[in-house]
Amino acid sequence: MSEDLRLVDPEALDRKRTPRGRVSIIVPQRWLREGARLEVDLPARLKCDACDGGGCDACERSGAFKLPDDRRPVAVTLPRVTDDFLAVRVQHPVGDREPSLLVVRVAAGEEPSPGVRWLGENHDVAPTVPDDPARAGMPALPQVPPWVSWVVTIALAALLGMLAGRCGIG
Ligand SMILES: [Zn+2]
Repeated sequence: MSEDLRLVDPEALDRKRTPRGRVSIIVPQRWLREGARLEVDLPARLKCDACDGGGCDACERSGAFKLPDDRRPVAVTLPRVTDDFLAVRVQHPVGDREPSLLVVRVAAGEEPSPGVRWLGENHDVAPTVPDDPARAGMPALPQVPPWVSWVVTIALAALLGMLAGRCGIG
């Protein structure tokens, strides 16, 4: 039953057919919270993401994709997330050659993995709303100058005074 369902699932078929490699990298947690544009060096042998290196049709049973010596680092854009783990897809990491898709698994850590370089901030993606602002390391409230709270307090006091006065007269 489940086998039949899997066979008719077009996405599953596509996943099996599309050769995709995988790299796993570690980045400082701050890069995930703030978003970042990175450059990542690719290894000479890229693990097959479909079979986890075990060998499948997509990688011709080798479990990996041998990359050309003239391969270039890939650009990876990290969205702003509150999670410590995510996967980012990169299309055509080695030009026209296989694999046509690269899955970059990203985990938060202390130092970036060797071959991972920070290029710049990523302001293109709106931040996701953190469940717990303190844990996420983000300010809970927008920064406001201290006098704003005084103005609000005085305005409220004036309003209350006005209401009280009106009630007194009524
Ligand atoms: Zn494979």
